[in-house]
Amino acid sequence: MRLAGRMRRLGTESAFAVLARARELEAQGRDIIHLEIGEPDFDTPPHIVEAGCRALREGHTHYTPAAGIPELREAIAEEVSRSRGVPVHPSQVVVTPGGKPVMFFAILVLVEPGDEVLLPNPAFPIYESMVNFVGGRPVFVPLRQENGFRFDPEEFGERLGPKTRLVILNSPANPTGGVLTPEDTRALAEILRERPDVYVLSDEIYSRLVYPEASFASIASEPGLGPDGRTIILDGFSKTYAMTGWRLGYGVMPRRLAGEFAKLQVNSSSCANAAAQRAGLAALEGPQEPVEEMVREFGARRDMIVAGLNELPGVECRTPHGAFYAFPRVTGTGRSAGELARLLLEEAGVACLSGDGFGRYGEGHLRFSYANSRENISRALERVAKTLAGAA
Ligand code: PLP
Repeated sequence: MRLAGRMRRLGTESAFAVLARARELEAQGRDIIHLEIGEPDFDTPPHIVEAGCRALREGHTHYTPAAGIPELREAIAEEVSRSRGVPVHPSQVVVTPGGKPVMFFAILVLVEPGDEVLLPNPAFPIYESMVNFVGGRPVFVPLRQENGFRFDPEEFGERLGPKTRLVILNSPANPTGGVLTPEDTRALAEILRERPDVYVLSDEIYSRLVYPEASFASIASEPGLGPDGRTIILDGFSKTYAMTGWRLGYGVMPRRLAGEFAKLQVNSSSCANAAAQRAGLAALEGPQEPVEEMVREFGARRDMIVAGLNELPGVECRTPHGAFYAFPRVTGTGRSAGELARLLLEEAGVACLSGDGFGRYGEGHLRFSYANSRENISRALERVAKTLAGAA
């Protein structure tokens, strides 16, 4: 079959491949503990589910405007304005099926073949895949365990070149759990002020999943870098409200770009799911306690998995301050991360990801999603310990 050449440049997410293999093993009767997939294990809070069901019963079963229903765009504008401390008009909001399309649209709208895109490494693999797909050139800013996986402003500045068109930031970060501090965003903004031609895609999908010792800081809060200038904020409902399967996210951006995003949406999905948009409205307007409870529980699991991993010989794990991933370095075990991930899945029944799936600076690490019960995390830690001891 003759496929368009661009398909050769498109990558994927290893999480989906590992999940598929884990399911195959389960179908053979194996007991697998899932620490590979990046989604909350909680159900969507009942009042949100009810709002979605009600929307269907009330006949919200039709196309909506491409950029989303006005009520939801207003609620998002209010929420983002409050949380980032910047004015946002509903016309700057585009509601999308999950947060992912915001990434894809930003890259499609802004990046021409040969343009450079600065992005962290290790990072969510879809950034690199999409940049390659459109013929752009990814330029990596390494995130290292030694300095807490921080986006070093100096290294960032050195890589910002005349061809740089777009910068991608992700805080809290997948796969490291690193969180940009207000000092970090201030330093980055200072550098970016020198380059008014460069756009910023700030992936803030984990913005609400920050642990008490840290706080969330957005580049969009920095003067001159708000969504009325050249920053596109990506956020959504998937992680915050345990709504990954509903497919509901949004971008907040300069009005001129919002029109282009809506055009891409008309050309692809038409709009986000109508009932899901009503459910999203209920999520924003309803009680926020379920989110707080989820973060508290993730915090307890984090402490447990980080302590457990650090007890293992050859494993060093930093404490992540956000999201729900532990990203330990396993080079001291004498095995490569890829080999270890394979062994853990095939022999010990623990599904996790090898860090190289997130870029070359992720080599030597494993990513464990701790969006699973404490009991399963504890069982998984026992199995990892046994595998490392060579007794799996
Ligand atoms: N951005 C990052 C960093 C992610 O880890 C994910 C999902 O894993 C997304 C965006 C996509 O979120 P959504 O499911 O809303 O498309």
